[in-house]
Amino acid sequence: MGGVPKQRKTKSRQANRRMHLYIKSSSLVSCPKCAKPALPHTVCQNCGTYKGMDVVDVMKKLTKKEKKQKEREIQASDKSEARNPKSETNSNN
Ligand SMILES: [Zn+2]
Repeated sequence: MGGVPKQRKTKSRQANRRMHLYIKSSSLVSCPKCAKPALPHTVCQNCGTYKGMDVVDVMKKLTKKEKKQKEREIQASDKSEARNPKSETNSNN
């Protein structure tokens, strides 16, 4: 037989034990290139860059229509970055 509890645990003791059992929200950082939220220390899912280098070819899997849209999106983000360099300072956190 396995371990058998000797005494009943009260609801509050049970709750106290379980107070750390929850899913923590994942911390996101804004991508320095496209400024979209991305997981830290990972390749950006949106633009496929990591530490300023192109790692994943994002355009490869997309259809023609999606490609056009994405190119437009990337160009827009480049322009906005040139206008306000605030996005660079935010990425340093
Ligand atoms: Zn990105």
